[in-house]
Amino acid sequence: MTSARTVPVDETTARGMLPPAAVYIDGEFVPNATGELHEHLHPGDGTPLGTWNLAGAADIDRAVVLAQVAQKQWMRLTPAQRRDILTDVASALHERHLELAAVGTLEMGMPIRTSVLGTLGAIEWFSYYAGWADKIEGLVAPVPGTHDYGVYQPYGVVGGIIPWNGPALGLAVKVPAALAAGNAIVLKPSDFAPLSSGMFARIATEAGLPPGLFNVVPGGPDTGQALCRHPGVGLISFTGGNVAARSIGAVAAERQVPTVFELGGKSASLIFDDADVPRAAKLAAILAVAQNSGQGCFLPTRLLVQRGVYDQVLETLNKTASGFTVGRPFGEQTTMGPVANRQSFERILGIMARIASDHDGSLLTGGEAVGGDLADGYYLRPTVYYDVDPASRLAREEVFGPVLSVIPFDDEEQAVAIANDNDFGLAGYVWTESLRRAHRVAAALDAGYVSVNSLAGLPPAAPFGGWKASGHGKEGGREGLLELMRLKNVHIAL
Ligand code: NAD
Repeated sequence: MTSARTVPVDETTARGMLPPAAVYIDGEFVPNATGELHEHLHPGDGTPLGTWNLAGAADIDRAVVLAQVAQKQWMRLTPAQRRDILTDVASALHERHLELAAVGTLEMGMPIRTSVLGTLGAIEWFSYYAGWADKIEGLVAPVPGTHDYGVYQPYGVVGGIIPWNGPALGLAVKVPAALAAGNAIVLKPSDFAPLSSGMFARIATEAGLPPGLFNVVPGGPDTGQALCRHPGVGLISFTGGNVAARSIGAVAAERQVPTVFELGGKSASLIFDDADVPRAAKLAAILAVAQNSGQGCFLPTRLLVQRGVYDQVLETLNKTASGFTVGRPFGEQTTMGPVANRQSFERILGIMARIASDHDGSLLTGGEAVGGDLADGYYLRPTVYYDVDPASRLAREEVFGPVLSVIPFDDEEQAVAIANDNDFGLAGYVWTESLRRAHRVAAALDAGYVSVNSLAGLPPAAPFGGWKASGHGKEGGREGLLELMRLKNVHIAL
């Protein structure tokens, strides 16, 4: 019998589940054109997991051309046939979710329990969008003397580019909606997490998805550029940071192709003195710091706290953050794993050193690497700074690591002003027991996604997407589907 603390998959079993290759084109794992291999390190101990191929421009070309062929055949099926195939894909992914979660953990270090939950959440997106495949309706325009109607049609091949911080969810917000809308997709995962996407694609093929509809071409920025520049790509759907977004946006502008951009965030979480303060402070700490070691775009990394409950919140944060067990991704007691790669680890330590010298805020807890038995991996202590200057770099820039900034405020007006005084506008969080205040503040926040008294998560039915520097376009729900289709108006004289 398994105890509550037993991990769902152990590390040795997980290592036996790794895929044979990373590039997946036209329904099979294939060699890359250059033959070069890339060594991938496990963030849990910094040792090589193995070597895999990455894709280059020639592989992208092959994938896009084959995807174009597959997409035309996909559209020859009836909507109900597409729905049934996508439903079978969702069931097959569900059956093999432990395998997918295990590989995700090995490649980017997320604790296995978190990875299992994240993978199940990701598979929900497949089930949800399978159901949309036969429910796409058009519209009729009231043009006198004619029958004027609009139909939604796919773009053909979607070029998807995703980051490394949550491979399963990163993929799930792009692939099933693109397929349900009638497109094929060529997906470029990051070279920092190149492994699990191909496994999703292989399981989809085995479940009956026609070859060529879901291709995986992992690689770095050059591979991403090759995908964006390919003339066969009709829409670019990008999740990642703002530096990459600028160069992808320039290519899209040159080619005149539409984009969906899901970018960075520095989301504010507002705890008012009428909130359930212990719960709000605890959840704020878990969400901002421990969840995926703070590597999440929509996490509430700026915690704005009303002065009347400020000390109480700091006390709870300190207790909660110090109570996390930082440990190996497959460790039975682990509640927080390593960050995903050495580059991130060193970048975040550099930010911590700068904060100390710039005096952006005072350190409550953390602020360093874990060291000791865990010195071989990329482990950081859960870190909280308080009395953070709202104008400082710490308050304005994304850290993308387990670092929370706490800022005091006097009243609602000031809280909203601080929250909105930021280039990003991805998410906002409000903690209050007042219904009126909840609606007022939700309406006033400059953010595409607001969560009241909860940790939002990413349910597939809810359209998610940022405002301002956090991007444009939506993923999830009907709106997320509409992004992936173009409207054709047909005018018939009567
Ligand atoms: P990144 O921008 O460096 O890379 C993202 C992806 O783009 C990777 O696949 C990368 O190889 C590719 N890429 C990088 N430069 C490129 C270029 N010039 N042309 C084409 N492709 C390029 O981001 P990252 O470090 O992988 O991920 C962290 C960032 O992603 C953070 O800013 C985070 O907030 C953001 N993110 C946003 C969301 C969201 O839904 N809004 C979700 C997760 C992560």
